[in-house]
Amino acid sequence: MIRIEDIIEKVERNHPNADVEMIRRAYLFSALHHKGQTRASGEPYLVHPLEVADILADMRLDDVSVSTGLLHDVVEDTLVDLDTIREYFGDEITRLVDGLTKIAHISNLPKEKQQAENVRKMVLAMITDVRVVIIKLVDRLHNMRTMEFLKPEKRARISQETLDIYSPIAHRLGMGKLRGELEDLSFRYLYPEEYRSLSKEVESRRPELEKALEGITSTIREKLAENDVPVVEVQGRVKRLYSLWRKLKKRRLEIEEVYDLIAARIITTNEKRNCYLALSVVHDIWTPVPERFKDWIGSPRDNLYRSLHTSVIGKGGQAFEVQIRTEEMHYVAEEGVAAHWRYKDNKLGHIDDQSIDELRKTVEKLLLPLVETTEGNEDSEDFIESLKLDLYPKDVYTFTPMGKVIELPRGATPIDFAYSIHSEVGDTCTGAKINGRIVPLRTKLQNGNVVEILTTPNSTPSRDWLNFVTTSKARTRIRHWIAEQQRTESVEMGRRLFEKELRRFGMSPKKILSDEEEMRRVANEYGLGRPEDLLASIGYGKTLPRNVLAKYLGPEKFSERDPDKKEKTRLETGMKAVRRFIGLGDDAIVVKGVDNLLTTRARCCNPIRGEEIIGYISLGKGIVVHNKRCKNVKQLMVNKDRIVDVEWARSEKEEIQSVRLFVTTEDRTGMLAGITNAISEIRTNIRDARASVSPRDEGLIEVTVEVFDKKHLDKVVGSVKNVSGVIDVERVNNLKRK
Ligand code: MN
Repeated sequence: MIRIEDIIEKVERNHPNADVEMIRRAYLFSALHHKGQTRASGEPYLVHPLEVADILADMRLDDVSVSTGLLHDVVEDTLVDLDTIREYFGDEITRLVDGLTKIAHISNLPKEKQQAENVRKMVLAMITDVRVVIIKLVDRLHNMRTMEFLKPEKRARISQETLDIYSPIAHRLGMGKLRGELEDLSFRYLYPEEYRSLSKEVESRRPELEKALEGITSTIREKLAENDVPVVEVQGRVKRLYSLWRKLKKRRLEIEEVYDLIAARIITTNEKRNCYLALSVVHDIWTPVPERFKDWIGSPRDNLYRSLHTSVIGKGGQAFEVQIRTEEMHYVAEEGVAAHWRYKDNKLGHIDDQSIDELRKTVEKLLLPLVETTEGNEDSEDFIESLKLDLYPKDVYTFTPMGKVIELPRGATPIDFAYSIHSEVGDTCTGAKINGRIVPLRTKLQNGNVVEILTTPNSTPSRDWLNFVTTSKARTRIRHWIAEQQRTESVEMGRRLFEKELRRFGMSPKKILSDEEEMRRVANEYGLGRPEDLLASIGYGKTLPRNVLAKYLGPEKFSERDPDKKEKTRLETGMKAVRRFIGLGDDAIVVKGVDNLLTTRARCCNPIRGEEIIGYISLGKGIVVHNKRCKNVKQLMVNKDRIVDVEWARSEKEEIQSVRLFVTTEDRTGMLAGITNAISEIRTNIRDARASVSPRDEGLIEVTVEVFDKKHLDKVVGSVKNVSGVIDVERVNNLKRK
């Protein structure tokens, strides 16, 4: 097993100020929690995080990355949670471990969700820090290197995933070396037969290829030296198996026809001028193949790759490729974004927040074309280069507390999340937590949010939600619910109105409403399907219950039973009787529009001239006149047909009317005299007056006065109130004695 101290030494070499204690603590923490776990090979599990940390240290990544490498499986595979990681290692490492755990969840998704494009999108959405993706790629690399103990099916699945997801990411990030190894390993496990035969074929040619390469590289070295071009290294290499295999398959070539089966690489000192010098030397030795020259230094690839590529015709007509780049360009070509830790290093031992942020933007730009990837394109290199950049993905990827990925459009809220889980969860949603914190329901979800929906049984959607949901599923469900709700209310309202009408007709609501067949017939006559629709229509006020009943009974039966018609007849008879009393009535009141009808003052309110009045046609007593404010009028208004407008007649002779007043006074002598004096002073007749004492020792005086009208009465009441010792004056409507 690798020793942690060896890893620490590597980190310190590249980052003199690295926090090595943190790395040691991460190692101990990982060892403690993975204790007892083993890998498929039977080795202790700890080997895996250690190897990952070691590869990261080799890539010259910082102390934080290496510590995270040690801890990367702790949350996923042991009982340790993120809060504990935060407690021991702080926010930065926690954030990285969290990102890695989420990516691990994605890989555990059920197969149907594992569509390459989806997974790739999700992985990209989780990347908030470049180091997350680098560590993930290294994690995958080590797992791929140690797959021989897994079952063939599992190896194939992991290899396919690597080709679909991780090697394109490595490619986009310019991590050429890692990508090459991932691809060759995937090829080996995914197509074992073809891998074996192709590698056999290459191996059988290897001596010959090596010999050719040796000739080429020594010629180059010689000529470069002659021309004083400073070089660091001249390498010869045989094309990687996976890319060779793809080329053979795609172009249906034989291995002899592949021009870049072997290639030379010139690494110059760090001045790009030397690259062009070297190029001219190469073109001087061999004839270049027209149109095979590419200047990736003048216009670098967007994945940061810089190099000159040229193909030349060698001895015996065999074409081969020569790549020329500086040492720095070479490092970037091999390590991609990870090279930033070498070239942007500051004195603190790891790159600062600002360059992390810049790097994040660069990486986003590099990776986003992958989101646009569509299946069916055979050549990944060609099509990735033809892709347009889209910096703003349309979707966000969120998680349930169980780690299930929920894909939503950008701007989606917890309500959208709830409905995408299940309609019922949406309908009964009463709150939401994001990453464990309660948030308002209109909060916009972000990539990687863990969303927990709080529900309450029997709670219902709110119309307000329509103002902020973004998914059509949520919108449709909420609208549906509101419509349903209104309909339920309308059916209920319609049923009540219809029942009332039925009762008025002396029919049994229960019987009629359960007569499904007949009700359906009537509903159909209205162009409606079900009796319920008919009731809803009544409830909405579109259909009158009376008309429904008319259709139900048919015209003859309807008019026979119509209580309005009976009432009308009864009223008409009554009115005739009333008219017989013409001339006998109290002519102080006239009924508007009808002359000389019998009128009676209602005893309950005894209206007097000047007060606002209203008439009610009673069958026995003709028109009974009430004070409009009389409490009985309200009840009478129910039979609106019988209410008539009345007014006080303009009469020459003054009509005298008796009104009884009830006066409350202080308990003192002479009150009665004082009150009667006051009334007499305004020349008003007193019919009757009596005094008594209340149980509360107040004086009670009842006095009946004769007045002409309301104005006269108000004057009387006013003067009584002015008598010293009077507490209250009340008019007693009922002339009957109490
Ligand atoms: Mn791992």
